Amino acid sequence: MNTDKSYAQHLDRQDSLKHFRNEFYISEDTIYFDGNSLGLMSKRAEGTIKTLTNAWKSHAIDGWTEGEHPWFYLSEKLGKMSAPLIGAKPEEVIVTGSTTTNLHQLVASFFKPEGNKTKILADELNFPSDIYALKSQLRIHGLDPDAHLIQVKSNDKNTLETRDIIDAMTDDIALIILPSVLYRSGQILDMETLTKEAHSREILIGFDLCHSIGSIPHQLSEWDVDFAFWCTYKHLNGGPGSVGGLYVNEKHFGNEPGLAGWFSSSKEKQFDMEHSLTAAENAGAYQIGTPHVLSAAPLLGSLEMFQEAGINHIRKKSLQLTNYLMELVATELADYHFTIANPKDEIARGGHVYLEHPEAARICKALKADKVIPDFRNPNGIRLAPVALYNTFEEVWQMVHILKTIMDEKRYTKYENKRGVIA
Ligand SMILES: *Cc1c(COP(=O)(O)O)cnc(C)c1O
Repeated sequence: MNTDKSYAQHLDRQDSLKHFRNEFYISEDTIYFDGNSLGLMSKRAEGTIKTLTNAWKSHAIDGWTEGEHPWFYLSEKLGKMSAPLIGAKPEEVIVTGSTTTNLHQLVASFFKPEGNKTKILADELNFPSDIYALKSQLRIHGLDPDAHLIQVKSNDKNTLETRDIIDAMTDDIALIILPSVLYRSGQILDMETLTKEAHSREILIGFDLCHSIGSIPHQLSEWDVDFAFWCTYKHLNGGPGSVGGLYVNEKHFGNEPGLAGWFSSSKEKQFDMEHSLTAAENAGAYQIGTPHVLSAAPLLGSLEMFQEAGINHIRKKSLQLTNYLMELVATELADYHFTIANPKDEIARGGHVYLEHPEAARICKALKADKVIPDFRNPNGIRLAPVALYNTFEEVWQMVHILKTIMDEKRYTKYENKRGVIA
């Protein structure tokens, strides 16, 4: 392997996506590897925020149906723009809510405990919010979460075995909720196989795409996944608190949503103001109330860049970046006891590299002091996400050398080995 900086520069010159970097606001001298927690702001996202605030300014109430992006159809329009990222039909996707509220909506709609099928299957590595939501949904049904939420165990605390998940698909499971990519180790689960196995046991299955959308391609329709949900402020660069999204397979169209509201309505019927709901005949039925227009606005600009770049090109560069990062860690940091704890195989490797080190918390503080932005994950993990749309191979090279200096000079010992409030 060529460890020269000039090789990184060579890879950057060959990068067909390199022009996108200029579209983002990137602080000078800072190496931002946290785009899987909060993606950077782009000029296009800023532009569409402006467009929609201007629509409010000039059209007032008529902004719902007038202007460049009428608000009444905005969620559907953004759903259509998101669909290619997950391999879904436009009408199967809607931009609405947040990850957690969409999960609540989908469990309220698809979890129908019946006979001995009364349990939900999840895993022990998922993000806490998902688990809290599942437990509270069980409680609403009068079911004890301790007995009715089954969490597949990890053998190594970082990854899950497909076999273990399939073995847990017992007769009493009604619904499965799993992440597409694990937030810590970045492992991609085999969604196609898991869906096939779930369906052969008459179990519905949904995936949390927070860490995969905008980073890897999906074929949700082809795999016949029942539903999915995600946030848009990570790889999709929608900004803090930007509106989330959900997918419902068209075979489920025409059902009433578990949590209904007037925006669940068919568009034609909504303003009839009737007290019996005629739910939309598409994923729009899973909306509840008035869309958060201003928090959806940046997605118009951001998703346009994904359309132009193409998710397959993004994935290709992302794999190159993470591969390069892993190789440099293995060669340059061999003496410093880092463990590469993400799956190395391309089939199972998501958009970030996950390093473990006993001093991880304070190494992250030292990196930040040197203007490298990683992401610490309790208790000993460092997530590094070189993002295809705006990071460079040279930044990967620089970051590894900054980390090497920190380790050589033990600069991290200046800090306490404890996480901050937000880590
Ligand atoms: C980021 C993330 C969330 C966050 O949920 P919000 O409702 O957007 O706060 C939930 N689940 C997973 C797996 C995540 O990665």
